[in-house]
Amino acid sequence: MADFVTHIATSTVLGAGYGAAAYAWYDVPLSTSLLAGGLCGVSGMLPDLDSGSGRPLRESVAFAAAVVPMMLLERLRTFGLTPELLVLIGAGSYLLIRFGLGWFLKKFTVHRGMFHSLPVAGVFFLIAFLLASGQEVALRWYKAGGVLLGYLSHLGLDELYSLEWVRGRWKLRRSFGTALKLWGSHAWSNLLSYGVLGLLVVVVFFEPAWMEDVQRRYVEAQAQFWESQRERLAALENALTQPHSRSGTQQPETTKQPESARNPPESAVSGQKPAPPSPPSPQNPTEDQSPAAQAEQGSFFRFFR
Ligand SMILES: [Zn+2]
Repeated sequence: MADFVTHIATSTVLGAGYGAAAYAWYDVPLSTSLLAGGLCGVSGMLPDLDSGSGRPLRESVAFAAAVVPMMLLERLRTFGLTPELLVLIGAGSYLLIRFGLGWFLKKFTVHRGMFHSLPVAGVFFLIAFLLASGQEVALRWYKAGGVLLGYLSHLGLDELYSLEWVRGRWKLRRSFGTALKLWGSHAWSNLLSYGVLGLLVVVVFFEPAWMEDVQRRYVEAQAQFWESQRERLAALENALTQPHSRSGTQQPETTKQPESARNPPESAVSGQKPAPPSPPSPQNPTEDQSPAAQAEQGSFFRFFR
């Protein structure tokens, strides 16, 4: 049986190759390649989650508790949740994984049980696909593929270590066939493993279309919000650039206003104060009688009406 360090070293080397190959030959973004390679490295210890109280259980559960909420963040954001709610969900899922899942694995798994089997490798593969965020389904499969590769590398290595070279010939240990297997010796755990696998297959089948729908509604809501903001901004700009619009005058009359400003101040004063018309008219008879001044007065009256 390979030890913890051998498993992690093997899956890390495989993960580095998996990430580098995708980046070099398939134009996968660097961050995605790094994440998929890293997931492959970490997944090399996942099957030994059934080891009871060992290092793989402790490390994997702590790692999953930290990483799973972060992987879910992008997805939860598209549901339009508030930042406070996101923090609460993150904290809740951390506690659930760290203590709930840790307790469950310790209590209900046996070493070399169904965690060392192909259907459960499939379960982790599909869970990784569901957790992987992003709109491109191919990249989500690629990230999940990292988990599957790391998981299978562990199972393969366990089988390899059950071969031993004794006196010039290969000999099989009793552990042979307990890692890369399709079913175990307990009916209930077989049933549970295949049941979960079947359920995940159904969910994965419908999930991308469903998520696309959620994403589309999110984008539409965002577009609606920004359109309303744009309209408010346009209305505000309109109010600021046309300060006289509230007085009810039309555009040509406001352009006449500078002409009145060019006239002598007496006419402007007489125009602005229509209430006492008798004192100005005897003082400036020529000004008031000129048709231009009358027209100006008319425009002013109309302006203040
Ligand atoms: Zn193992």
